[in-house]
Amino acid sequence: MINLETPKKQKALISQAHQVAMNLLRPNSRKYDKAEHEYPVELDMLAAMIDGLSESGASEGAGAAGVRRSEDAGADKGVKNGTNLASVLSIQEMCWGDVGLLLSMPRQGLGNSAIASVANEEQLERFKGVWAGMAITEPGCGSDSANIQTTAVLDGDEYVINGEKIFVTAGDRADAIVVWATLDKSLGRAAIKSFVVRKGTPGMTVERLEHKLGIKASDTATIRFEDCRVPKENLLGSPEIDTKQGFAGAMATFDNTRPLVASMALGVSRAALELTRDLLEQAGVVIDYDRPALAQSAAAATYLQMEADWEAAHLLTLQAAWMADNRKANSTEASMAKAKAGRMATDVTLRCVELAGTVGYSEQDLLEKWARDSKILDIFEGTQQIQQLIVARRILGKTSAELK
Ligand SMILES: Cc1cc2nc3c(=O)[nH]c(=O)nc-3n(C[C@H](O)[C@H](O)[C@H](O)COP(=O)(O)OP(=O)(O)OC[C@H]3O[C@@H](n4cnc5c(N)ncnc54)[C@H](O)[C@@H]3O)c2cc1C
Repeated sequence: MINLETPKKQKALISQAHQVAMNLLRPNSRKYDKAEHEYPVELDMLAAMIDGLSESGASEGAGAAGVRRSEDAGADKGVKNGTNLASVLSIQEMCWGDVGLLLSMPRQGLGNSAIASVANEEQLERFKGVWAGMAITEPGCGSDSANIQTTAVLDGDEYVINGEKIFVTAGDRADAIVVWATLDKSLGRAAIKSFVVRKGTPGMTVERLEHKLGIKASDTATIRFEDCRVPKENLLGSPEIDTKQGFAGAMATFDNTRPLVASMALGVSRAALELTRDLLEQAGVVIDYDRPALAQSAAAATYLQMEADWEAAHLLTLQAAWMADNRKANSTEASMAKAKAGRMATDVTLRCVELAGTVGYSEQDLLEKWARDSKILDIFEGTQQIQQLIVARRILGKTSAELK
């Protein structure tokens, strides 16, 4: 097994995240699994703490935000372990505590990653401290995000947004939503831009909240935009429609967010592995790292196989995040990490339920919940199949028109 050391400067952050996960998220895990749609008030205190850390400069990527590529990283300055790596490491710890609660953490939304990735300096300053969800999915467009129907039309100094977004994580609780809309449907993917729409903007209405299989602590909203006017300065990045660049601008967000979702998968599956290991040991199963897995009991062999699968996902995730920190193109690696980690977490958490038998299936412990929570990590930010398609296209050098 390869044992990677956590970079020294990130050790304090990881340890803090673990303490929070152990003392705040885990103890409230079942409570908000039962009380779907109830706001987890305990997180407000945590947000205040994270704000304090950010202001003091002591925190670097304590949640799903802060994944902007560092300007000072470059070949001439040596390798860098930066914000992307810190984010995946701390998110993994937090999701060891609870994925749904991590997704409900104020100011740590996936929209924050979009802002961090695409916003200009002025926007970064203006949207500092804003908790942002991300709205891409529509009733007629999920995996095929190039098919977005929501429109944004420039009228004077404002864009007028019309359309419907579904399954928006933190869509009700967040302070703002980063909405993907097209400036001109006839120009295809290149015309898709993202806009920050603040909560309370007239014309933006939360229609309903979903009831879900897992991550019940996280609110998932349907939001309607009807002649919703936002200042033209809220378009993230450049308003130019560069048909040569195509979708690349908007898609850059995913290079940063996919490793984060992969790290969520690592966290929840590690929780399941640790508990399963304890349960197996209590049942007298010996897991021996010095003997071939297949020479051991079936339970031990299964466990070792799951750990190896986890380790592979872990390494891919670290690689994708590290590449982002070092300004290396990481689209392929981000998709590889997301595909591997999403599949691994779904398999591992369900197999842990199986290995633990009745204890695994009952609500007495959290194994059944982790199996439910992990499925979404194989779906949002691009499904398993879509990640595989992206990786295949890149390896084979095919365009999206050639391989679909
Ligand atoms: C709890 C939850 C939270 C979410 N949060 C957000 C959010 O915050 N923001 C947001 O914008 N969206 C969010 N989503 C939506 C999520 O990103 C989409 O569900 C996802 O992108 C898949 O889209 P779809 O559901 O329309 O499925 P579809 O695109 O209809 O796909 C259905 C199935 O077909 C497969 N498939 C599709 N195309 C291909 C292909 N070319 N080749 C092979 N297989 C294919 C898919 O992998 C999938 O298994 C959330 C969803 C859930 C359930």
